Amino acid sequence: MKGRLAIWMLCVALILSACQGSVSEQTTGSETDSTAETEKGVETGGETGTGIYANDEVFELPGDLIRSNSTVVDDNKTQSIITSQESYQIGTYIKISIYADEQAPDKLFDEIFYTIDDYEKRISKNIETSEVDAINAAAGIEPVAVSDDLWALILQGLTYSELSDGKFDITIGPLVDLWGIGTDAARIPAQTEIDAAMAMIGYHDIELDAANHSVYLKREGMKLDLGAIAKGYIADAIKQVILNRGYAHAIINLGGNVLTVGTKPNSDYWSVGVRDPNGGQSDIVGILKLRDNSIVSSGIYERFFIENGVRYHHILNPYTGYPEQNHLVSISIVSEKSVDGDGLSTSLFVMGLDEAYAYAETRDDIEVLFITDENKIYYTDGLAEVFVPTNTLYEVVGAYTKSE
Ligand code: ADP
Ligand code: MG
Repeated sequence: MKGRLAIWMLCVALILSACQGSVSEQTTGSETDSTAETEKGVETGGETGTGIYANDEVFELPGDLIRSNSTVVDDNKTQSIITSQESYQIGTYIKISIYADEQAPDKLFDEIFYTIDDYEKRISKNIETSEVDAINAAAGIEPVAVSDDLWALILQGLTYSELSDGKFDITIGPLVDLWGIGTDAARIPAQTEIDAAMAMIGYHDIELDAANHSVYLKREGMKLDLGAIAKGYIADAIKQVILNRGYAHAIINLGGNVLTVGTKPNSDYWSVGVRDPNGGQSDIVGILKLRDNSIVSSGIYERFFIENGVRYHHILNPYTGYPEQNHLVSISIVSEKSVDGDGLSTSLFVMGLDEAYAYAETRDDIEVLFITDENKIYYTDGLAEVFVPTNTLYEVVGAYTKSE
């Protein structure tokens, strides 16, 4: 309860200060040259619909949703009106900015926040009425039929489990719960507990029935955890809502999963900051110039605790049962779909630099930026023209060769 209250107060503080235009984005992938940060924001509260929503279209939002009003900026540089709203959902700070000829209506944000809420209520393993909770509760007992969205997400999750040979595993739930990293219950478990949790992991023991869209975890005690891909999947869904409503320029930030819609108006690209893993929330190592792309980062700085000088963070290795310790401190994936960036950022982090870099080079559709514990930055070829370093504490090496 104490933790919840603290989070709540933090959110209120965040939202209040963000409304005054003084808070930069929370985690990696912060948009850095948004004029919303520098120009004076105008607060509006009321409904300013442009007529694209029917009057009877209503999106039921939870009464306790933490959310800001619109900040509206008439921006000379992009020759557009930037309308932004923020919320705290899926355990993370969310900011959506729409660039258009006129102010975006509150109903667009209602629909976006409703979409996030709807997904969270079905995907979160910590919500008792969720579909994932139903699957987990029926482990070893019976299959559970799921919605098309969740079915698709589970299939996506399995592709990352397969390509990483189980270093990314959507059945990692028992180990995540045991460590409790990012919660009040975080602790270093006993080896016997770790062994028991590891024995419950195994994506091969998921039985899927395509005809019924049903999912069966074969062994009692198994638990799905889609936390490593959910944000990316939801970001892609938000982009679809924005496009469906006729908006062509926007930036979506789900706690560091940044997805851009189109280009920044009057510009060829968006400038998105890559978080400095050793710095504060608004420190960056450089800027990526992106258009219609997603950038997702995973790192040891997101959720962790330190005990006896050792940092225990939230990306776990299913083969060791411990937070993954290698020379990486963060990894950022540029991809078209945010769900791919999210799945791959966690997968490649657990693979480590050698294996991850080699894998990244086999894919034409993604680019990857690695930051190591020696403050070196490596990236795949496609980022040479796209990444602009801004932080002299880091040595930008570029391409990685294994012997280094
Ligand atoms: P964040 O959500 O903080 O941006 P990630 O996308 O890297 O970070 O996801 C981390 C979450 O993924 C953890 O909190 C946990 O729920 C889950 N997870 C941790 N390790 C693994 C793993 N090896 N395979 C699959 N999921 C994992
Ligand atoms: Mg991820």
